[in-house]
Amino acid sequence: MDITNCPECGKLFKKVGKKICPECIQKEEEDFLKVKQYLDDNPGATVPVVAEETEVSEKRINNFIREGRLEASSFENISVSCMSCGAPTKRGKYCSDCTGKLQSDLEKAMGEKKEEKKEDDDRPKEGGKIHIRDRFKDK
Ligand SMILES: [Zn+2]
Ligand SMILES: [Zn+2]
Repeated sequence: MDITNCPECGKLFKKVGKKICPECIQKEEEDFLKVKQYLDDNPGATVPVVAEETEVSEKRINNFIREGRLEASSFENISVSCMSCGAPTKRGKYCSDCTGKLQSDLEKAMGEKKEEKKEDDDRPKEGGKIHIRDRFKDK
């Protein structure tokens, strides 16, 4: 049996795959419905306003957006800040600029890795062989 403290409310609970206790899962579900309902009625609301009106923390609302449970793109003023530059973004962890940058950085890193590997495969091996052969000759 795996008993752990709920990070939300601090209560001990039996861990069954979830990080938070059943009560908090239910609370989170209620919060989600509250937020969703509020946004359905007020599509132009901003996160701080939604947080105030629904009594759901901004952090939790941001989590709903990051998890993709709330479609930020369907509400004009709802967004989360980019984890890299802080610019508002409608989806995921990074804004479109940083997503593009990260993508090209990744491709560049992968390209460099490939080239490094190629050098490792070719040059040192051949050089090594020649050295060994030379040494054998000398003996
Ligand atoms: Zn809990
Ligand atoms: Zn960004």
